[in-house]
This record gives sequence, C-alpha cells and structure tokens, in this order.
Amino acid sequence: MRADGYDAVVVGSGPNGLSAAVTLAKAGHKVLVLESHPTIGGGTRTSELTEPGFWHDMCSVVHPTGLASPAFNSMDLGRYGLEWLDPEVQLSQVFGDGTALPLFRDLARTQETLGRDAAAWGATLGFAAKHSQDLISDFFGPFRIPRHLLVAARFGPQALLSADAFNKIMFRDPRTRTLFAAIATHVVRPTSGVATASFGLILGMLAHAGGWPIARGGSQSIADALAGALKAHGGEIRTDHPVRSFDDMPDTRLKFFDIDPTQFSRIMGDRLPTRYRSRLAKYRYGPGSFKIDYALSEPIPWNDPYTAKSATFHIASDDQQIRQNEEDVKAGRHPERPNLIGGTPSVIDPSRAPDGKHVAWAYCHVPHGSDVDMTEAVEAQIERCAPGFKDVIIARHSMTAKQLSVYNPNYVGGDINSGVSDLRQLFTRPVVARVPYATPVDGVYLCASSTPPGGGVHGMCGMHAAQAAIRRHG
Ligand SMILES: Cc1cc2nc3c(=O)[nH]c(=O)nc-3n(C[C@H](O)[C@H](O)[C@H](O)COP(=O)(O)OP(=O)(O)OC[C@H]3O[C@@H](n4cnc5c(N)ncnc54)[C@H](O)[C@@H]3O)c2cc1C
Repeated sequence: MRADGYDAVVVGSGPNGLSAAVTLAKAGHKVLVLESHPTIGGGTRTSELTEPGFWHDMCSVVHPTGLASPAFNSMDLGRYGLEWLDPEVQLSQVFGDGTALPLFRDLARTQETLGRDAAAWGATLGFAAKHSQDLISDFFGPFRIPRHLLVAARFGPQALLSADAFNKIMFRDPRTRTLFAAIATHVVRPTSGVATASFGLILGMLAHAGGWPIARGGSQSIADALAGALKAHGGEIRTDHPVRSFDDMPDTRLKFFDIDPTQFSRIMGDRLPTRYRSRLAKYRYGPGSFKIDYALSEPIPWNDPYTAKSATFHIASDDQQIRQNEEDVKAGRHPERPNLIGGTPSVIDPSRAPDGKHVAWAYCHVPHGSDVDMTEAVEAQIERCAPGFKDVIIARHSMTAKQLSVYNPNYVGGDINSGVSDLRQLFTRPVVARVPYATPVDGVYLCASSTPPGGGVHGMCGMHAAQAAIRRHG
C-alpha cells in the first residue's frame, strides 16, 4: 500500500485508537486511521439494534472515565458535538427485594441515605473525590512514582485491599457493602481479589467527582467527536479496511495498533522478536460478559422511585451473592441469579427512542468464551425488582461472550476489559516494560485497552502511546 505522505497509521478506531490519532495529529503528524468495521468507534458504537428509532449503545454506555479523562478533556470534544448528560441519580443499587440505594453526585445527599456508614463513606470515597484530579493524574497511566505522595499514601493502602476486606473494615451496613462490592465488580474479578477495592474506590470517587454521565445521542457521539477533532487537524479515516497483515498498511514511520496482543502478534508475525512474542502469548484474559439490549414500550416499572431516575443500575441481593457469582464465573460456572449492570439511557436522553418509548440494556459476567444465552436469568433478575418488566419488552437483542469476541476481536473470549486487570497486569500490560506501549519494532506501538490504564472509554492508552512515540521519534 502506498504511503501517500502519511507519517502515522493507526489500526482501529476505538476510543484509544482515535485518541492516539488526535494526539499525533495535534502534534503536526499526518495520520490515517484504518478501521475494519463500516462504522468507527469500537466499543462506542450506537445503532438501531432492535427496531427502527431505538438507538442502542452496542458496548459502552456510561462514561465516568470518559468525563474525567485528561485525554478527552485536552481535545475540546464539546466543539465536535459531544455532550455529557448528568443523571439525577448516578447509580442505583437495586437489591433482591426491589428496594434500592441511590448514589448521588452530591456527597452529603448520598451520605443521608447511608445511615451509620455515612462518615466512613465520606472519609474514603469523599476523600478520594476531593482529590480526584491528583488521583487521576497519578493512576490513569503506566506505573510510575505518584506525584501527589500524601494523597497516594492515604489512597494506596485502601486501594490495595480486596473489596471484601475494604467492606469489612469500613462499612457496617450490608446495603453499603453491596453498593461498594457491585461497583468493584466492574473489574470483572472476584471481590476477594487483591486490589479489587481500587475499582470500587476509583469508580465510586468518580460518581462524586464528575458523575457517571451518558453521551447525548449515544456513545457513538464520543467516537464522532474524536473523529471531528482528528479531521480538524488534518487526519483521515478509512472504514471497511481490515488490517490482516503488514501489507494492508501504508509504509509509515509510525504505526499504532488499537488491537489486542493476540491479534497484534498474528499481524506482525516474524517481524516481532520471538522473545517478545512469547511474552505477549502469556498475556492473560479474563471472564466474558453476556449483553442484552431492549426496546421498551414504557420505562422499566421499578419498585423503587429513585431507580426510575437513574441511567444506570446494579442488581444484586448482597455482597456475598456478588462474591459467589464472580467466583463461580471465574471457575467456569454460570450464576443462576447473576449480578447485573444495566441502565435505561432514554430516561435522561429521550433522543434514544421514539416518543414515550425507551431503550434499556443489561449485562452479566459469564465464563471466558461462554456461548450460553443468559436471557432468562437476566430477565428474571430484573422482573424480581420491577414486576411487569417482561410485559413492556417490544424487542430484544443479545450477544453471548463468544458473539462479543466475534463482533470485536479485542474482546477476547468476551472479556470487555481486553485482559485481566489485576496488580500483575494493570499498569504493566501487555508486558512489564518502562514504556509498555513501545514494542521492539522501531516505530510500532500498542495503544488499546490492553495497555495501561486498561479498560474503559477514556482514550488514555491512546494518548500515552502517542506521547511516548512523540518523545522518542519527535
Ligand atoms: C458490552 C460492553 C460494555 C461496556 N461498557 C462500558 C461502559 O459502560 N463504560 C466504559 O467506559 N467502558 C465500557 N466498556 C469497555 C469499553 O468499551 C472498552 O474498554 C473500550 O472501547 C476500549 O477501547 P479501545 O480503543 O482500546 O478498543 P475498541 O473500542 O475495542 O476498538 C478497537 C477497534 O479496532 C478495530 N479493529 C480490530 N481489529 C482490527 C483490524 N485487524 N483492522 C482494523 N480495525 C480493527 C475494531 O473494529 C474496533 O473498532 C464496555 C465494553 C463492552 C464490550
């Protein structure tokens, strides 16, 4: 393929690929993005999955990390159409009996609902939220000595605990423990695992710091805004352009891969030294997710009024059930009453569905590579807390973990974080290296969520990779 004067090519137009591309283009490089799908966006695509007029986020929906992202915030995405919508209730933790605990952006309002755990919540999540900027700049990237030592010294030891140990030490009310454990499960590991508290703390902190917003019109508008910023700086995007080998790319000085280590290894073949390839082969992937999207004739008939105002809900009876379910999933078993993460974005963004109608989604964790249809288990969980839910379903679309990995090869085995996020692998993915984005091949960089700081829509992997290249190559 001819170079056509490009300095850099980026394979993949997920939030990290586009973020790398914008960072490079802003630094004066001529950038081309190649995307295998007909539509850009990777995990941030939105489409009419079920019925015309019902716009579903195919993967990511809720964006606490997107709102807080220093990468996105440096790109002036509002100018290119991105608008964050802030729900009144950031998250509703729904229990088995249909009652719920609301998490508000306002710390004091949240504390009012937490009874005897109010002070502990303020001292931990509240403290983190107060210092969110310092924590974000220290922890949203590759491993390095924190710059804000006092904040890190207080936050770090708590973050290293398992979510279970953190709960036991900090909170007394089983409802608060359930709320925290459910937030921590976004790491897709059993809550008994070392440092799983860090995910509960970071995501909980972000609920108070900026919120858990959704993007007006759908997550696609994040990708479209990134593409707008890229084009404004002279970059180009080609869709329907799968890169299967080195020859499918122009001969540029810099190459970035917004793809997972397994596919990267395959594309690079013998160009990668054997030692590096065998290190990539040891990269570990985690459990999968089963996702379902709904077109609804009415909002979900929740028992709890706060949940009706929230764009995001978690369903789990208690923290023990959460732990057991995540352990089952890790051991290859499908939970009977899975922990659910879900939402009804149309409650705060009516543009997602025809007048008076709604869209909703939910997913649960399942064993790696699972092809089991969890529809019945998911719907039974929601129905328990919202009797009559099944009656308002107009249409549904589901993806097993296996189907997710076909839809996007980055989600190996349905692993939505593209790799286990534990202490051994979070800051040092895909290999232990001073600059984990750089590969042994000169000018070739990895920039997907299989690099630090890992999964989520924030574009930080892309920005760090591009900055590493700019530092090295100018
Ligand atoms: C079901 C689900 C729900 C999620 N929910 C949330 C959420 O609510 N909030 C949140 O922050 N995160 C969420 N995530 C995670 C988030 O979507 C990902 O962490 C994020 O999209 C990773 O971005 P990325 O740029 O690294 O990769 P991706 O978004 O996966 O993008 C990679 C891109 O590369 C393209 N590609 C792959 N191979 C090739 C090739 N050979 N040639 C050309 N192009 C190629 C793909 O088509 C894709 O467009 C969710 C993920 C899933 C699957």
